[in-house]
Amino acid sequence: MMQYDILDELQKPGVELTCVVDAEVAVEASEALYGPVKGQVTLINAGGKVEAFGFVSTTVELTCSRCLTKHWVPIEIEIDEVCSLEAVERYDSVTAEEERSELISLRSGSKIDLSELVRQLAMLNTPWRWLCRPDCRGLCPVCGQNLNEGDCDCQRQQVDSRLAPLLELHHQ
Ligand SMILES: [Zn+2]
Ligand SMILES: [Zn+2]
Repeated sequence: MMQYDILDELQKPGVELTCVVDAEVAVEASEALYGPVKGQVTLINAGGKVEAFGFVSTTVELTCSRCLTKHWVPIEIEIDEVCSLEAVERYDSVTAEEERSELISLRSGSKIDLSELVRQLAMLNTPWRWLCRPDCRGLCPVCGQNLNEGDCDCQRQQVDSRLAPLLELHHQ
């Protein structure tokens, strides 16, 4: 868990505290699966608000946009956010857009909890489109064979549709 028993200390203006993050528990996010999170986050009480900065690294399970295989991919997350110490009921009930317009709360009960901050920044740092390698050959549109693993016997039309008119000219 990314919880720290430092709420009282952090409420003093000007105080600066560093949290070592070493969480075995994966971050829960609706659209992606994340692995363990490691890193370091410094929290500074800047008068009512808390500045959080540092970095964490994790892994995220991504699906290749072409061949659809899943891979665990490392991601680095830079943290530089102004946060609040207000208690928040639930994050699930608000939309993603509303979340971004409000400060992320670091408070969970009587503790400081970095998991919501990490979860939101992890999602922002997760690519929507990803290829397992730049030259991924994708799947055969006929039989579904992963062409990175070998060719199939299908007759595939390799011609780029933009070039098709040129080929037709050749045939005349
Ligand atoms: Zn691929
Ligand atoms: Zn095939």
